Amino acid sequence: MKLADRLQGIAPSATLEITAYANEMRASGIDVIGLAAGEPDFESPSQSKHDAIQAIEEGFTRYTATSGIAPLKTAIAEKLIHDNHLEYANDEIIVSCGAKHSLFNLMQVLVNPGDEVLIPSPYWLTYPDQVRLHGGVPVFIPTDEQTGFKTTAAQLTQFLTPRTKALVINSPSNPTGAVYDQATLEAIAELAVRHNLVVISDEIYEHFVYDGRAHCSIASLGEEIKARTMVINGVSKAFAMTGWRIGYAAGPKPLISAMGMIQSQSTSNPSSIAQKAAIGALREGRDFYAPLVKEFTERRGIMHTQLTTIPGISCLKPDGAFYGFANVSALIGARFSDQSMTSSSQIATYLLHEAHVAIVPGDPFGAPTHIRISYATSREKIKTGLDRIRLAVQKLQTVTS
Ligand code: PMP
Ligand code: GLU
Repeated sequence: MKLADRLQGIAPSATLEITAYANEMRASGIDVIGLAAGEPDFESPSQSKHDAIQAIEEGFTRYTATSGIAPLKTAIAEKLIHDNHLEYANDEIIVSCGAKHSLFNLMQVLVNPGDEVLIPSPYWLTYPDQVRLHGGVPVFIPTDEQTGFKTTAAQLTQFLTPRTKALVINSPSNPTGAVYDQATLEAIAELAVRHNLVVISDEIYEHFVYDGRAHCSIASLGEEIKARTMVINGVSKAFAMTGWRIGYAAGPKPLISAMGMIQSQSTSNPSSIAQKAAIGALREGRDFYAPLVKEFTERRGIMHTQLTTIPGISCLKPDGAFYGFANVSALIGARFSDQSMTSSSQIATYLLHEAHVAIVPGDPFGAPTHIRISYATSREKIKTGLDRIRLAVQKLQTVTS
């Protein structure tokens, strides 16, 4: 059977695939340590669980308004004022089945074939494929350790063409942990306004910032930039609610209503039960995620200290999110018996089979010389996982050794 042309060049989400594969290995009795998934290992808020059970018992189990129930939109609007100094009316907000779905809806209403979307690289692997699925062209803006994995307005200017439609800002970043400061965002906002770009601001890791850093939403930097920014967020990360599938977008009304139309012809409303659960989570806010962030600060320290003492691996201390993005270029070309580590994917496969540790290679993030290590798991697992990685790396014969 011939599948649609739009599938050409599209890959399944590597993060989800590797996590699923590691789970299969574990189910078959292999003790695999998972440092792949970007998924907090905490329980969802008890208020959310309670509200979900109550929703079921009270029969709140029917279709809801396609774009989300009013009390949830109100809770989101309050959160956006409180955390981000952003004021939105309920009709400037849409609730979807996860932030990934919010992004997908946005691409549907924004991207025409040939439109270019600027994406700082390394990037979360879903952005380019969602752009490609709509016939758009992802334009990668290279960044590296030297620039703290951040772009600037000056660099972005070099990539503008008459087809440039939008720009993705993901701060804090998955996979690099980069966090943009206000001054850099102000210059980028000015560029976006001047060149009529839509800014897609994915803020799903906003609360995971370390060493006294603060998250700044680019949309909060003035009315002009707010009028062309779509803020993407959700409850998956901050509230350990990945499985509930609630994300949202806030932005200009014409875009939000077009996204609502797409949603009405695709998924309809997100789960009525999960919507109720998300209200409790958002109301709990800081009280819930502050202890998570504290714990993640400790884990980040453990991960970084252990990782950077492994010969052949270097890693910037991430300013945000919950990933270590390690440079393994010194290991590319190394050998283990008859296997050659020709790419970070090879290294990831080697670590999975030799060390029984699941990590994500950098290739799908646009960084073939890096690997991503998630520290959204227990301190014990991080320690053991990195001990295993150290042993496996020691077994590799580098070209010079
Ligand atoms: N944005 C980024 C940068 C992510 O890492 C993820 C991964 N969960 C998402 C969006 C999507 O999150 P969800 O669909 O679970 O809300
Ligand atoms: N975003 C998470 C990650 O990068 C979950 C997987 C996914 O949604 O692709 O691990």
